[in-house]
Amino acid sequence: AIPLVAQISTVLGARNGLLIRDRHAMEDARLIDVVLFDKTGTLTEGRQGVVSVVPAEGESADEVLAIAASVERLSEHPIARAIAAAADDRGLAVRRATGFEAQAGRGASALVDGATVTVGAPRVLTERALTPTAELVNAARDAARDAQTVVFVVRDDEVIGLIVLADVVRPESVEAVNTLRGRGIRVAMLTGDSWDVGNAVARQLGIEEVFAEVLPGDKSGTVASLQRDGSRVAMVGDGVNDAPALAQADVGIAIGAGTDVAIESAGIVLASSDPRGVAKVIRLSRATYRKML
Ligand code: ADP
Ligand code: MG
Repeated sequence: AIPLVAQISTVLGARNGLLIRDRHAMEDARLIDVVLFDKTGTLTEGRQGVVSVVPAEGESADEVLAIAASVERLSEHPIARAIAAAADDRGLAVRRATGFEAQAGRGASALVDGATVTVGAPRVLTERALTPTAELVNAARDAARDAQTVVFVVRDDEVIGLIVLADVVRPESVEAVNTLRGRGIRVAMLTGDSWDVGNAVARQLGIEEVFAEVLPGDKSGTVASLQRDGSRVAMVGDGVNDAPALAQADVGIAIGAGTDVAIESAGIVLASSDPRGVAKVIRLSRATYRKML
């Protein structure tokens, strides 16, 4: 029976834009009761753009952006690419940075003009007990309310400003979520981004269950905790951060434009970056294996 099942999954995959790396994943997809979507790059396009730069008093917006770009030029993160592109667009002088270090799920830092510069999530400030000015706190709150991401720029131990970025929800994501719900499947979202941004994006998509501020190393733990509660979990993701969670899930599904690491950890790859493919996987699995078993 194995060669037949293998052939079936190859044909199914080719017809439906799926790369089936593990035929057991295709077989198990019919039993899934929770689908956990990564936010950035999966439900959203993952192409961040800089919306605004807010300098602390005595600093200039251009200098905040230039110094941030000097660090981010050395990072592959979508936020980093957006910051580097914005500095280029404005023709700012980006400096050579040394000693670059990425802090997974937090930010990045490097030495610029003899100072240690960190660009990162609000949690970086909390962890280092740094307090931004009231003006920056207000700007961060407004941005979060609009589902925008905020990164702070820290020079040595001084918060010199913040950068507001926005990502776009994929137009297909609403339908992807609704179709799964209609088939009685629980839908949840998992993100390293803040609760404010996570909840705002979830609201746009009608997702009621959110796991936010989850560090890269803890994403697989979220999958495991759902499994402990008795759920069979499909994890859908795109990034390096998602690989352990994809491997932990009963069915790991990578979005096609994702990283090689994510793709290698997934049982199924959606050739197009269309999250509606998840419902298709489950439907095909139900239709195919119901008859056979
Ligand atoms: P997600 O789980 O949504 O794909 P990540 O785990 O990659 O997000 O990142 C979580 C958060 O860490 C980001 O929202 C951002 O605030 C911060 N972050 C990570 N890398 C960087 C970076 N290079 N520059 C600035 N901020 C970063
Ligand atoms: Mg991601």
